[in-house]
Amino acid sequence: MNRFHGLSAYLKRRFGGRVHKIPLDAGFTCPNRDGSLSTRGCAFCDAKGAGTGLLAGGADLAAQWEKWRTQLGDKYGAQLFLAYLQSYSNTYGPIEHLRATLERITPLPQLAGICIGTRPDCLDDAKLDLLADQPIQEIWLDLGLQSARNDTLARINRGHTAETFAAATRAAAERGLKVCAHLIMGLPGEDEEDFLASVDYVNALPIHGIKLHNLFICPGTPLEDMWRTSPFPLPSRGEYIEAVVFALEHLRPEIVVHRIVSDPESGQLVAPEWAAMKRPTMNGVTTALARLDTWQGRALAPDRPMPEWFEHDVPYPQGLFA
Ligand code: SF4
Repeated sequence: MNRFHGLSAYLKRRFGGRVHKIPLDAGFTCPNRDGSLSTRGCAFCDAKGAGTGLLAGGADLAAQWEKWRTQLGDKYGAQLFLAYLQSYSNTYGPIEHLRATLERITPLPQLAGICIGTRPDCLDDAKLDLLADQPIQEIWLDLGLQSARNDTLARINRGHTAETFAAATRAAAERGLKVCAHLIMGLPGEDEEDFLASVDYVNALPIHGIKLHNLFICPGTPLEDMWRTSPFPLPSRGEYIEAVVFALEHLRPEIVVHRIVSDPESGQLVAPEWAAMKRPTMNGVTTALARLDTWQGRALAPDRPMPEWFEHDVPYPQGLFA
């Protein structure tokens, strides 16, 4: 039984079957790395900017797509795919780069939609208008906020404020673009209440999706220096599970939950050890929701039963994702 509104159920209902993500590297950079804002990057970010590095290996977008499409088709019989522009900030720089990238992506075979990882300060009206004009039914903007506390954002060198995120989210929603907000639990100087305050902050904005991340420390990052110089506590797996359950209870049920845990690439973990395996954390959240007989949005409407439409084969209520 689904106790939250997960991405795979959302996509199954929307497209009639499973949809797989293909990570793409379109050669964008990041203002927080190229010197426009900073050269240090966000404290937790590894040098690849969450990317695949495939472009650096010489594979253009069509070649990257083919590589993954073939692999996923052979392994899972996958028929439909979301292009995920994952590396760095994929609306940064001249609008022509974004336009040319979209022109290469829209004709890709078996494309169901596109997810664009970017920063809230890299979205102006012209870029949002361009995105809204694309002949693609499903467009998500993966927008990092990480914390709603501006002092935390300064501490981790995000280079933008929570208000910038809120403005970008509203501007995207006005154009029918879906925003998936990213939050991190366990940031230095924060406790569980701060994380829940960040959840409440994005819940009050017109977001359509959310990714919840557990903080982990990658080698060579400013966060590793901070942690070694002035060690701060990292949540245990149990504490993280408890925080996610609380977060889900406080989220509007229609928000699509894209992720409830993160894991590092092989060899890219300093601490905490439990972050190396995400499956026990995912299972822990599912088990805790069932044990507590709770679900996404319950704290917002304690007298209402759990929505049946968390299951992919139950139709959405009228007006939801119309
Ligand atoms: S904005 Fe994204 S890519 Fe840039 S430094 Fe921060 S996490 Fe890394």
